[in-house]
Amino acid sequence: MNRGNSSFSVDLSNLTSWLWPVLFLGLLASVGLGWLVNSILILIGLILIAPIVAFLILRWWVNRNLITGPCPVCATEVTGFNNTQFFCPNCQSPLQIDNGSVHRVTPPGTIDVEAVDVSVSQISSGD
Ligand SMILES: [Zn+2]
Repeated sequence: MNRGNSSFSVDLSNLTSWLWPVLFLGLLASVGLGWLVNSILILIGLILIAPIVAFLILRWWVNRNLITGPCPVCATEVTGFNNTQFFCPNCQSPLQIDNGSVHRVTPPGTIDVEAVDVSVSQISSGD
């Protein structure tokens, strides 16, 4: 009877090998190291949650800053980040996305007198 019980425990350890860390943490808690268990659990939680939070923030940021619009030169649909310069993949025109719309970059030599700081209006236009 007892020998059969030992083989059963081997099968149980194979099935529930993931349970041993939990039992180990429970043992630590039972000897007065609950703070250690809590900090380990918090650490594990942070490790698990941090990539999810980072991914959500990144997705929110991409949704907010990734702008799609027609190229003003050739009307090809182009995608780029807000307040960045890039080249149209179709006509190679230098483009800039400003305030959520695609503009053609002003040719060099042209003085742009409308130097407006848009950071304040960007923050206040949130949803
Ligand atoms: Zn183009």
